[in-house]
Amino acid sequence: MKEKSMNETFDYIIVGAGSAGCAVANRLSENANNNVLLIEAGRSSHPLSRLPASFALLIDNPLANWRYRSEPEANTSNRKIPIPRGKLLGGSSSINGLVYVRGNKLDYDTWAQMGNTGWSYDDVLPFFKKMESYQGNTSELRGVEGPLKVTEVTDRNPIYNGLFKAAEEIQIPVNKDYNGQDQEGIGYTQTTIYKGERMSAEVAYLRPIKSRKNLTIITNSLVKKLLFDGKKCIGLEVKNKNKIIKYSVSKEIILSGGAINSPQILELSGIGRRDVLEEKNIPVIHELNGVGENLRDHIAPRIIYKITKPGIAYNDKARGINLVKQVANYIFKRDGFLTLPSAPVVGFFKTRKELAAPDIQAHFIPYKVVLENGKRKLGEQPGITCTVNQNLPESKGSIHIKSDDPEDSPRIKYNFLSSSLDRHTLISGVKLIRRIMGSTTMKEFCGEEIQPGENFNSDEKILQFIRDKAETVYHPVGTCKMGFDQESVVDKNLKVHGIKGLRIADASIMPTLVSGNTNAACMMIGERCADFILNNLK
Ligand SMILES: Cc1cc2nc3c(=O)[nH]c(=O)nc-3n(C[C@H](O)[C@H](O)[C@H](O)COP(=O)(O)OP(=O)(O)OC[C@H]3O[C@@H](n4cnc5c(N)ncnc54)[C@H](O)[C@@H]3O)c2cc1C
Repeated sequence: MKEKSMNETFDYIIVGAGSAGCAVANRLSENANNNVLLIEAGRSSHPLSRLPASFALLIDNPLANWRYRSEPEANTSNRKIPIPRGKLLGGSSSINGLVYVRGNKLDYDTWAQMGNTGWSYDDVLPFFKKMESYQGNTSELRGVEGPLKVTEVTDRNPIYNGLFKAAEEIQIPVNKDYNGQDQEGIGYTQTTIYKGERMSAEVAYLRPIKSRKNLTIITNSLVKKLLFDGKKCIGLEVKNKNKIIKYSVSKEIILSGGAINSPQILELSGIGRRDVLEEKNIPVIHELNGVGENLRDHIAPRIIYKITKPGIAYNDKARGINLVKQVANYIFKRDGFLTLPSAPVVGFFKTRKELAAPDIQAHFIPYKVVLENGKRKLGEQPGITCTVNQNLPESKGSIHIKSDDPEDSPRIKYNFLSSSLDRHTLISGVKLIRRIMGSTTMKEFCGEEIQPGENFNSDEKILQFIRDKAETVYHPVGTCKMGFDQESVVDKNLKVHGIKGLRIADASIMPTLVSGNTNAACMMIGERCADFILNNLK
């Protein structure tokens, strides 16, 4: 292995070109006086990543994905739950399910209430507006000039109207903009798909500005660790093929490696829990007990029904001659099944009337999905898959390094279902899905419940089904939490506590999950981080 001494200095270095990292790189390099380096461990692209249906194809593909697995835990029947994470420019936004959700107003107000002033809904709204160019009916709450094009699903399958009607039968409203005034209800999904192609963070934030002379992007470069002078971050060490290169920084490093890798990089660099670092013989630069703690994710059982009405389920669209037609449709018209997001209809529901905000989210997918050892396949039978997850789970897990080798995956413990509220809410969520799907309206389309099946008819049996089968909807967050308590890692301006010249901007800083899919919130965090830096907020 060849090692180079520090050979180049940048004003700002961003680690990880994912949802947040791309936004930071774009905004910092808007000022031509800022010399910016963006470092990505993965490749620059994958030939399939612009295709929306690639979420199913890249979900376990080593060329674009870190392919993590959780530790086996008794709460989830000792299974190793797959944790896909994007490993290419755009990060997870280049392989995700393209569902666009900001989260609930109350999520951000709670962050502010926890002491993170400047993160209330009113504070983050300008950044959500700044980043998007919403192509649907606009309002004063939506942005129209941002780099990220957001569109509403154009597919119109009769079952979608059936779902809307069935929901209304049980007093759930149809919502035309769940990212607008009110989140509650069911509606067509807003997506990061434009003209039939994926709008990843790379497409939105990097492609238009790649010619900027003050922005250097390097790929296939794994950041091994950060370098310090006392408690000041002064550079980092990168592995590129068989070379080790050191870069130095004159102003700040921004860690945007995502919820799994940002805490991993901190620990490899000597920032974290003393016992974790000493066990791996890593010299302690700064003790921070919250690094790698507070891991949250959306565990989501999938309830599947047989579709009996012909021409409704899409299971046969991806087989034989029909698949050939869909491929042609995509190539010539950028249209059809292959341009759908992972779920064309989503809902935000309350399992108890008295709640201030919806406590569960559901995704409705007009085909039977089979999850097998991290892979996602279309089932043989025609079906509809309904995922349900609790918006704000209380159960917390952790991520810690297994060794001092940066190429060794960290140990990921979810500790799912350890809170009784989480267990209760998920069981209620499954029952709510059954009420919608069991309505007279849906009987026109659907037959029997294939998974878990009608014999799972008690709370105990539903819970056992969740333990045995549920995977996540891929939203790990919280492992470098923002705040000022014992478990927090960054302050409200995203600066790492006790360290100079180092911020974190990605899913890891979220103190709690948001009520929805996490891509939009991550981009907003990137926008906010750049704004803090450019406005020199201490
Ligand atoms: C399969 C899947 C489906 C999803 N579906 C949706 C959805 O439909 N809607 C939605 O809103 N959200 C969805 N999500 C979640 C969402 O995409 C993520 O929450 C979000 O993209 C995370 O952004 P981030 O900036 O925190 O990290 P990421 O986007 O994951 O970026 C981190 C980047 O850092 C790089 N990196 C990591 N370590 C290093 C290192 N040591 N050196 C250099 N580079 C490094 C990674 O390769 C990656 O490019 C999905 C995620 C997945 C995986």
